[in-house]
Amino acid sequence: MKIICVGRNYADHAKELGNQVPDEPVIFLKPKNALLTPGNNLFYPAFTNELHYECELVIKICKNGKFISAHKAHNYYEEVTLGIDFTARDVQDKLKKNGLPWEKAKAFDSSAAVGTFIPITSLPDLSDISFDFYKNGEKVQEGHTRDMLFSIDAIIADVTQYFSLNIGDLIFTGTPPGVGECVISDNFKGVLEGQEVLNLSVE
Ligand code: MG
Repeated sequence: MKIICVGRNYADHAKELGNQVPDEPVIFLKPKNALLTPGNNLFYPAFTNELHYECELVIKICKNGKFISAHKAHNYYEEVTLGIDFTARDVQDKLKKNGLPWEKAKAFDSSAAVGTFIPITSLPDLSDISFDFYKNGEKVQEGHTRDMLFSIDAIIADVTQYFSLNIGDLIFTGTPPGVGECVISDNFKGVLEGQEVLNLSVE
């Protein structure tokens, strides 16, 4: 399986990091080893001094496909959850400044935390749902899918021009504003339309 991530998919988050709002999806990949499944905590990586959380809606692909059109894309996922796109921001800033790829900052082991997947049939229309993200009990991010620059179906249409999707692949759909730093012993909780789906700590 692979993990496809969308960068800068909420205008207010692009702005908070000083990035331009993109006119096509910004895509990067994380390898299988990046996956951190429910019940596991993140061990703070040794190579960074500025680890950031980015809470995102995550889609699980349930059907193989390529060149999927946006109007058929809804057939390719049945479950969603919240995840954290852990980012070594100091490493990323250095790589970005030098025009280099982001993998060391974004694709390291356990950098793609996911919560428990829930069926989309248990949720309202995915294009208008909200999620909340708490750090040590305090709300730090609030996302509304209506604010996405590229919808889930538009993302699938775009990425499948380049990569086939396979059953079990995950798509991290980008983070709303409010990203910030994590330190050892922080606890994170993600609530999707009132359901707690994600809970992990940094060790
Ligand atoms: Mg992200």
